[in-house]
Amino acid sequence: MNHAQLTALGRALRLLGEHGEALSTDTPDAKLHEVRADLKRALDLLEESVGTTAPSTRCPEHPNGPVDRAAPDLCLLCETRRRTARRAEYNGGPLPARPSTEPVQSRYGVRGDRPQPQQRWLPELWNGQAWQLCGTPRRDRREAELYIAAQLRAPRAAMAYRLVHEFTDYEVLRVWGTPVRVDIEPMGGI
Ligand SMILES: [Zn+2]
Repeated sequence: MNHAQLTALGRALRLLGEHGEALSTDTPDAKLHEVRADLKRALDLLEESVGTTAPSTRCPEHPNGPVDRAAPDLCLLCETRRRTARRAEYNGGPLPARPSTEPVQSRYGVRGDRPQPQQRWLPELWNGQAWQLCGTPRRDRREAELYIAAQLRAPRAAMAYRLVHEFTDYEVLRVWGTPVRVDIEPMGGI
């Protein structure tokens, strides 16, 4: 906001304050129309004054980060973190595990057969043209950092290294019906 904008906006806001002070049950409609016009003018001035980079989320940590409309703070990054935590809770929760001897009749298998969300840390080096993988992707960040530290000390170290975080996730989007746990019919109970 430049100085001219500051002056104009300050004046407009102070005027609104005065309107507020003067407001009473006797305030005539004509005055209210005037207030509305001044309010609108102040709003226009404010819109001109604020920068173009309006925050896309309500997250104090990632105000301009990617948006997840379903998240309370609209922050995709934090929501992903929360989902991961919730899932970890679920996985360690009191739900009885499906006995491994009980096969589920589906050619597509069950959710548990699909890969769990995974994260890996990829060490990469700058080869003068592009970033390229320079070691085995690690499951452990610290291990990957130690690896890169060792590479840096090597006699023919690359110009630059970087650590890339890879994350794959699976999310239930919607459930149709109620998944009630049913007992398996005893053998021959047809
Ligand atoms: Zn966030």
